[in-house]
Amino acid sequence: MIVTRFAPSPTGYLHIGGLRTALFSYLWAKRNGGTFLLRIEDTDMARNNEEAALAIVEAFKWVGLAHDGEITYQSRRMDIYKEYIEKLLHSGKAYRCYMSKEELDALREEQSARKERPRYDGRYRDFTGTPPEGVAPVIRIKAPQSGVLSVHDGVKGRIDFRVEDILDDFIIARSDGTPTYNFVVAVDDALMGVTTVIRGDDHLSNTPKQMVVYEALGFKIPEFYHVPMIHNAEGKKLSKRDGATDVMMYREMGYLPEALLNFLVRLGWSHGDQELFSMKEMLALFNPADINKSASIYNTEKLDWLNGHYIKNCSNDRLAQLLEGFELFLSSHDKREILLDAVKERSKTLADMAAQIREILQAPEVYDEKAVAKAFKSEATEVLEVFAMRLCDARELHLPSDYHQVMEALVGEMGIGFGKLGQPLRLALLGKLGGPGLDSVMAIIGADETRRRIEKAIAQIV
Ligand code: GLU
Repeated sequence: MIVTRFAPSPTGYLHIGGLRTALFSYLWAKRNGGTFLLRIEDTDMARNNEEAALAIVEAFKWVGLAHDGEITYQSRRMDIYKEYIEKLLHSGKAYRCYMSKEELDALREEQSARKERPRYDGRYRDFTGTPPEGVAPVIRIKAPQSGVLSVHDGVKGRIDFRVEDILDDFIIARSDGTPTYNFVVAVDDALMGVTTVIRGDDHLSNTPKQMVVYEALGFKIPEFYHVPMIHNAEGKKLSKRDGATDVMMYREMGYLPEALLNFLVRLGWSHGDQELFSMKEMLALFNPADINKSASIYNTEKLDWLNGHYIKNCSNDRLAQLLEGFELFLSSHDKREILLDAVKERSKTLADMAAQIREILQAPEVYDEKAVAKAFKSEATEVLEVFAMRLCDARELHLPSDYHQVMEALVGEMGIGFGKLGQPLRLALLGKLGGPGLDSVMAIIGADETRRRIEKAIAQIV
């Protein structure tokens, strides 16, 4: 059975890069009928961990990922860590180190004078004497002292670390007894039965240390997949300056959860040249062995394109419901279907869609000056006036096609190109050029409102 986990340090929100590794972990567990666990790495007690966990669960809920079982909080497991530290002391795989801060500083200085990496020299490793007075010891684990430690990584292949470069007998418990990061991660992963660790490759340098803990405690080493970072267009690690990092901000900006997940699954993973993945397809196809070796590039246009795709394919019922989050209430609008159909093809986000809808529903206050100069030529007033009259005369005007007929008849009779009517009419109705089909706009606002907007435009522009 595959057991994966997502193990965020509490920051109060779910980071977009975190969601990607959570997604990878979720997909791999679920694809194999396994378990996806959530662990809050909150040994740093200063932060509000409940809130952070809630923020993560809320974001998971929004995107539709769910963790299995109870949330594990490291802050509540101190007794367990103590027990394992005792075990290691007992078996002689860890030991108390009484080195004072001054001694440690002196050692570091000597090493840096020799241009060596700062590294504990193991002086208390086999200490049997009487401990010095007044020093609260730390507990160090016995790590290999030389040779090569190999990490078998599912993404990067075998990585050989020279022990001298990466390890020393590192501290597993501080002098106040609190356990250290790499120790608790390894203990928890083992006790939670995690078989497969999928995480950012910024953690790769921790892995040898965690392996030392695994081996000392006789745990089975899990499979590791270290996922390359997400970079911005300049090739630097994604940061707040590049846009939103909080997953819930994406909801506020009007991204659909399925678009965000589709976007994230393709950041660092691919299946041929396929771009669109439903959750079902992700579950059928995702394999961490196919994660790319190089960093992926965050590309807003791609996200917008995907979001546009999912908006276009979203039911109008769901869209109407989602738009309520953008203060747009359409449930009682009798032309809701035409309205949503007219804009869903051309919206990048729900926020964008709401703005476009408002532009249709509200008469323009101002008219784009450049567009006026371009499209509101001398004959425009006359054409619009005739058109407004034709709308009065027409009997049945409901559908976009009804309005289209009136427009077509008019340009035919007047012997003018479609644009001679279309462009000034667009300006009158929307205040600018561009936007959805005019016949739809008129069907949505109705003939009376269309005429009112025409009159207003003529009065204000001419
Ligand atoms: N808590 C770590 C972080 O938020 C992740 C630890 C891990 O996945 O092993 O970066």
